[in-house]
Amino acid sequence: MKKYDVVVIGSGPGGYVAAIRCAQLGKKVAIIEKYDTLGGTCANVGCIPSKALLDSSEHFHNAETKFEAHGIGLSNLKVDFKQMVARKDDVVKGTVAGVSYLMGKNKIDVLQGVGSFKNATQIVVTPDKGDPETIETEKTIIATGSKPSSLPGIEIDKKRIITSTEALNLTGIPKKLILIGGGVIGLELGSVYARLGTEITVIEYMDSIIATMDKSLGKELQRTLKKIGFKFNLSHKVTGAVTKGNGVVVSAKNKKGEAVEFEADYCLMAVGRKPYTDGLGLENAGVEVDKRGMIATNDQLETNVAGIYAIGDVVKGAMLAHKAEEEGVFVAESIVGQKPHINYNLIPGVIYTWPEVAAVGQTEEQLKEAGIAYKSGSFQFRASGRARASMDLDGFVKILADKETDEILGVHMIGPRAADMIAEGVVAMEYRASAEDIARFCHAHPTFTEAIKEAALGCTADRAIHA
Ligand code: FAD
Ligand code: NAD
Repeated sequence: MKKYDVVVIGSGPGGYVAAIRCAQLGKKVAIIEKYDTLGGTCANVGCIPSKALLDSSEHFHNAETKFEAHGIGLSNLKVDFKQMVARKDDVVKGTVAGVSYLMGKNKIDVLQGVGSFKNATQIVVTPDKGDPETIETEKTIIATGSKPSSLPGIEIDKKRIITSTEALNLTGIPKKLILIGGGVIGLELGSVYARLGTEITVIEYMDSIIATMDKSLGKELQRTLKKIGFKFNLSHKVTGAVTKGNGVVVSAKNKKGEAVEFEADYCLMAVGRKPYTDGLGLENAGVEVDKRGMIATNDQLETNVAGIYAIGDVVKGAMLAHKAEEEGVFVAESIVGQKPHINYNLIPGVIYTWPEVAAVGQTEEQLKEAGIAYKSGSFQFRASGRARASMDLDGFVKILADKETDEILGVHMIGPRAADMIAEGVVAMEYRASAEDIARFCHAHPTFTEAIKEAALGCTADRAIHA
């Protein structure tokens, strides 16, 4: 029987990063993946393919709506959707090949198959072809990720009632698409199709979209998405969805409690994701899950069974690739006796619509609820020279700082390249910077980052220069 120091189950951003860090720290490592490509949800059917289609559709949208103003004439502009999807597939292929390369480079054994605990130290790997193999390990890291959730009584048939996975692989551009849920997945994939001409209808239970983020971001995002044709039905609880001919009918209860119906070619179920532990044989190892099916861990991300850890989407916290990666490194370093640390308050959240949305730290609503006295400075992109040059006038940066100490408590932005710019907020907050610190750093001109400096200046009355 093959013996390892560490076996990682699942090769998403949590699992493969954990495997690499364990190998770097001198451990003999194997990684088990049930699919024949590595990289998990993120690389195969999540972050990477969605961003590839977002980029392609944004190019088309710009060509259609902005090029003329730039003095660029186009005739016969059209979408070759097949090519758009093929390019996305190539991006995925390259990314998953990169993960395989990294496994080889770090001398990590890759075992294709479903990993299932036989007991706390032995795992059976059942490949697609060939016989199951049992391996022995000292430590195990469970990184089996998540799957899309549904709603009671709604069966995802993957044909008309679809998840993000099918939405990334449609064979044509739908005329009408319903998004069940106005969260991250719905709004990103809805943006792809809205830009290509699909009529998008959002049905959202809460009274705002992206409801867990600072309220001001959802309001501005809704305003900008309306401009590309999104129709919003907030405070609507979806109660059912059925296929009808070549389409789908979604039923919901509106704010007044009245039954309403919506029809479209497809409906995308985007009401969250649930931890995935099917086939893992947790019961054979005695590993406990909580009420929501998440693997329960302590602060060291160790389960109730010594030597078995869990990370990423399968444990509590934000279901984000970079959170999973941080946890992968954290567990690897803990295993060798180091004292790593993750600041969960400073995991940035990003939505890759256009304008992009990005945030770190506490929202205004959270500060109010906690009774923390704060001040706020904000800056609109329409006052930025860089944003005027690129015709990206929507959005703003908002910085929240402690009223007394000026320490930054939250950075919230919606605007061009917010996804990349949020890193400045993370660095500032990791070093417990004050708003004045950011206001005094030199920011290159003309850049979108000047909006961050101006928002920081705005935390002190009458200090903003360009607002
Ligand atoms: P996963 O990436 O889900 O990987 C788990 C792996 O384990 C899978 O490959 C699975 O096949 C394997 N596995 C499961 N059970 C077994 C078993 N028993 N044996 C062997 N293998 C097994 N996050 C971001 O931060 N940024 C984004 O832009 C972003 N975009 C997204 C877009 C979409 C459409 C979706 C669906 C998600 C997106 N996410 C994004 C979320 C991100 O994909 C997840 O948070 C991340 O992939 C979680 O990583 P993980 O390692 O925990 O699990
Ligand atoms: P989400 O939690 O972002 O949004 C789900 C939405 O569905 C919520 O707004 C919720 O109020 C709504 N909802 C729930 N029940 C409903 C009902 N009965 N009727 C109408 N609306 C209802 O979930 P998601 O969009 O499915 O994304 C899943 C996960 O994937 C997220 O946790 C996210 O972190 C991750 N993800 C991240 C990115 C990114 O980082 N850019 C991109 C895609 C996905």
